[in-house]
Amino acid sequence: MMREPRGVVLKGVHKRFGDVTAVANVDLEIRPGELMVLVGPSGCGKSTLLRLIAGLEERDAGEVWIGDRCVDEIAPGGRDVAMVFQSYALYPHMTVAENLGFGLRVRGARGPEAEGRVSEVAGVLGLAGLLSRRPGQLSGGQQQRVALGRAMVRDPGVFLFDEPLSNLDAALRLKTRDEIATLHRRLGTTMIFVTHDQVEALSLGQRVAVMDRGRLQQVGTPHEVYQKPANLFVAGFVGSPPINRLHLVRDREGRLAGGPFVFPEPFPHREATLGVRPEDLSVAVVAPDGSADRRGGPRPPPEFTATVLRVESLGSEQRVHLDGPGDAAWVARAAPALPVAAGDRVDVSVAWQRTHLFGPEGGRIGAAPRPGGATQP
Ligand code: ATP
Repeated sequence: MMREPRGVVLKGVHKRFGDVTAVANVDLEIRPGELMVLVGPSGCGKSTLLRLIAGLEERDAGEVWIGDRCVDEIAPGGRDVAMVFQSYALYPHMTVAENLGFGLRVRGARGPEAEGRVSEVAGVLGLAGLLSRRPGQLSGGQQQRVALGRAMVRDPGVFLFDEPLSNLDAALRLKTRDEIATLHRRLGTTMIFVTHDQVEALSLGQRVAVMDRGRLQQVGTPHEVYQKPANLFVAGFVGSPPINRLHLVRDREGRLAGGPFVFPEPFPHREATLGVRPEDLSVAVVAPDGSADRRGGPRPPPEFTATVLRVESLGSEQRVHLDGPGDAAWVARAAPALPVAAGDRVDVSVAWQRTHLFGPEGGRIGAAPRPGGATQP
């Protein structure tokens, strides 16, 4: 049903609003047929970037390519893209069928071909039984599907989604997210999806482009962005609860040190930040006689001990809030059955090979080495 998908290439795209640089010199390639998610905090420029692709904003510098055409001089209607917005903007006085066919009618397409196209799209989206209803007689999820269908009937080379799920409640959001992923697999069309929700980004995107203050911070698969964050911003933005941090400073012998850790190798910079994901910590409760509770199998030797400040029980896991290491207050993920409570002393082990060391400018250097002279506070 759909045509060949088109790729999108941005070359040095720049956009300012007065003093605000909304999009700063962005280079990005979205492959034909790819589902790319643009993600970042509010105001990072992701909607502006999408609107620059659609032609709804004028760039200050750079080039936008869609397929094999530079579209900078082409009006939105000629760019072969269709946009789905957060507000569905359906026409309330029109039926579902009329809403779906509206884009075709304004382009002069009528008759059996246009009707066939509408019923084809309605079939794909499970709207065939609702064609004679008006938007007011539909659920939020069904309205969202009509909005999607209205973009689909135009058979665009690229779909652009601007936070299309943010009006939906949590359950419907998950369901609609699944529907979009399924639709993408089925149609194979290029899709660019904007969200501020990092969980949504990782679960939906084949690749994810993380933005902050107008700049592209990292582009990669969800796995890459989570496991190898390019910098401290990405490490902190992706993952919940957020990555644990510890400030490290070079000591007189040139080694990095912070809290209970002293890293053995000489370090070229004055300071750094250690990042450890909550799941890369394991806690063992220290019994009153001083022995650690080793239930749950053998563990590596502990790197530090801490007191439990609070335990959040989430059903499938526990989040154990610690008063260390050093001045930091870290959170560890623990199995739901681990008997641990506020006030307990715990031994904490760190999976060093999965940790992250960030340099003074915030860029990721690599995994932190295993500390040599770990001292207990
Ligand atoms: P949100 O998730 O809140 O929509 P966003 O990441 O999509 O945020 P943009 O809407 O692209 O961010 O905005 C980027 C920056 O540009 C913000 O500082 C915003 O205030 C500014 N901005 C966006 N549109 C305009 C405009 N038309 N006039 C002036 N400033 C604008």
